[in-house]
Amino acid sequence: MTTAKEIIANLNKPTDADRRLIEKAYEYAQKAHEGHKRYSGEPYMTHVAAVGFNLAEMGMGPNTIASGLLHDTIEDTEVTSEDIRREFGEEILFLVEGVTKLSSVRYYGTDRHNESLRKLFVATSQDIRVLIVKLVDRLHNMQTLKHVPEAKQLRIATETLEIYVPVAHRLGMGLIRKELEDLAFPYVLPEEHKRVCDLLHQRAEKAQGLLEKERKILQKKLADSGLMDFKTSYRVKGLYSLYHKLKRKEWDIDNVYDLLAMRIVVNSVEDCYRAMGIVHTVWRPLPKRVKDYINLPKPNGYQSIHTTAITKAGTILEIQIRTQKMHHEAEYGIAAHLIYKEETTGTKGRSTAEWFSNLVPTLFRPFAWRDNAKHEDLEATRNTDPKQKIPNWIHQIGEMYTHEKASGQEFVDDMRTDFFSNRIFVFTPNGDVVDLPSGAVPIDFAYAIHSEVGNHIAGVKVNNKLVQLDTVLRNGDIVEIETKKSAHPTPKWVQMAQTSVAKRRIKSALMEMEH
Ligand code: MN
Repeated sequence: MTTAKEIIANLNKPTDADRRLIEKAYEYAQKAHEGHKRYSGEPYMTHVAAVGFNLAEMGMGPNTIASGLLHDTIEDTEVTSEDIRREFGEEILFLVEGVTKLSSVRYYGTDRHNESLRKLFVATSQDIRVLIVKLVDRLHNMQTLKHVPEAKQLRIATETLEIYVPVAHRLGMGLIRKELEDLAFPYVLPEEHKRVCDLLHQRAEKAQGLLEKERKILQKKLADSGLMDFKTSYRVKGLYSLYHKLKRKEWDIDNVYDLLAMRIVVNSVEDCYRAMGIVHTVWRPLPKRVKDYINLPKPNGYQSIHTTAITKAGTILEIQIRTQKMHHEAEYGIAAHLIYKEETTGTKGRSTAEWFSNLVPTLFRPFAWRDNAKHEDLEATRNTDPKQKIPNWIHQIGEMYTHEKASGQEFVDDMRTDFFSNRIFVFTPNGDVVDLPSGAVPIDFAYAIHSEVGNHIAGVKVNNKLVQLDTVLRNGDIVEIETKKSAHPTPKWVQMAQTSVAKRRIKSALMEMEH
């Protein structure tokens, strides 16, 4: 089992207080989960220790790591919110409670409401760090899914593909997205998984040796050309992403040009373009395959130069060229920005504000792979009017961030106050999600569904309890409206309603009743 020491070893310049905090959270979690076991038979602590370790490895701060260690205490043990507040303070309590709340966002087996669920998921988290802990939590649950009873595996894996993967994608967290996809794939689409595996298997055996040979050739050439401080690596395309590409290429693996990719990580943007030039002298580039995502980043913030070339041995390779910072961002996405918040050096990377304004309009766009749009052509969506399908409030925040230079901490705070607190997402008893401004009451909910529902409210249940018509709704509430033909609005409702839509409809119903 991962120890507190191993977690601390990943912290960047920890203070004594940081060390003590991690040790304390670790011991506290260990005590709280004492006697609990995972399905694998291992102590429950192995799970939370793994979550804490992964967060530390990603570069998250001590509070987030401590929250990772404590994330299952309130839900699964005797520990109460009050205990966490007393022992660890408000911020950690806020994060742990956020993760706990997210457990109620469940995939119910139809894909009708997936987009709403993703919204609910993001909104419920209230702080981007909550989402990051939750994603890392899910990653470990997926890594140990084989021990879970079979009846639950499909639901968990499907939920991962439908909710967690798109959220990780929108947040630019490439590494975690790829791992979640490939872990869920065999459970959700076993036959397709096998078919992709078989196809890849024939290639992969040769590929490994081949890539290593080509890498040496490239390294020598880069060094000979005077490029300093570069790193090269290679990867074979992930199974799930290969599956989506194969579907579009009539299952002809020879038409998948990015099956094998070589990566060059350099120090500066200038060196990226130099490296591209060198690559093109080593291997012959394929026409029209150079993609400059440095100047035109993908909507989720991804930056790199991509080019496809054919090696002397006849292998088609995709070459991805980027700076250290772009590389870190491509792997950790928004988490990387939380890490860079204290960075003051004059790097050429975009500011958090710019990055965020790029992210926001895409955060809630339907995941491209699901509707057979091209994964690589996500950037093409820039040309369509992004304002069309996005709720206005998201836009306003995006625009605000373009004008203001938010510093790191402000960024986190703003995410909390503006991005998440302006709206709430509540469920109908059928699992439909209704998006309302915060402060909204059941009357607003009823009119948001239909005026006929609003005009005949006889009673309201929130989470199965009868409540007053002016009860303030909270994120994740399940709201049930009872209607009666004989029930009608009263003038008092105009004051109780918070949305202008509801107020307007009540007024017109009242006028009609007068006639
Ligand atoms: Mn957990």
